[in-house]
Amino acid sequence: MSELLRKHSLSDVDAVLISHLHADHCVDVLAAYTLLSAHGHSGLPVYGPAGWAGRMDAFLDVPGAMSAVFTVRELFDGLQMVFGGLAVEAFLTEHNAETYGFRAAAGSAVAAYSGDSGPCEAVERLAAKADLFLCEAGAERAGTKVHLTPEEAGEAAARGAAKRLIGPVEIAAKGRVVTVGAAT
Ligand SMILES: [Zn+2]
Repeated sequence: MSELLRKHSLSDVDAVLISHLHADHCVDVLAAYTLLSAHGHSGLPVYGPAGWAGRMDAFLDVPGAMSAVFTVRELFDGLQMVFGGLAVEAFLTEHNAETYGFRAAAGSAVAAYSGDSGPCEAVERLAAKADLFLCEAGAERAGTKVHLTPEEAGEAAARGAAKRLIGPVEIAAKGRVVTVGAAT
């Protein structure tokens, strides 16, 4: 969230998507909760795996904390969401927790994000002809079924005919800005 707040305010955000409940992918929701509740804001839609709000409430030891500040939504495979001009679909991926990747389309431009995932058919469907595919590649060896190696991420992107892969091919770096589709 710190990177987001370098360029935007939380009030600019239309929705938050939590891919899964491993701490490195979800704890910023607690910071957003603290910031928004301190300013009396409510209603920001937050989508996450089943039970996400209860997990966060339990961490804070405040029943109903998330629903007081956020509009709580739960993800499922194939869920289609629209935020302004952005159409987003959730894809259940292969990981050691309920995890989703996302494809986001604005006009003809498509960006996809793998979430955490081992090799699976969903990763290839996420990558399918995407203008940009942001793919995790954290496994050091193949066959973990939890994360992808750089080789497996590249293979999935190639099979899906993704046009551009950020991760093992073009390195994702803090603060990097990538434009998807034709510049307007
Ligand atoms: Zn994970």
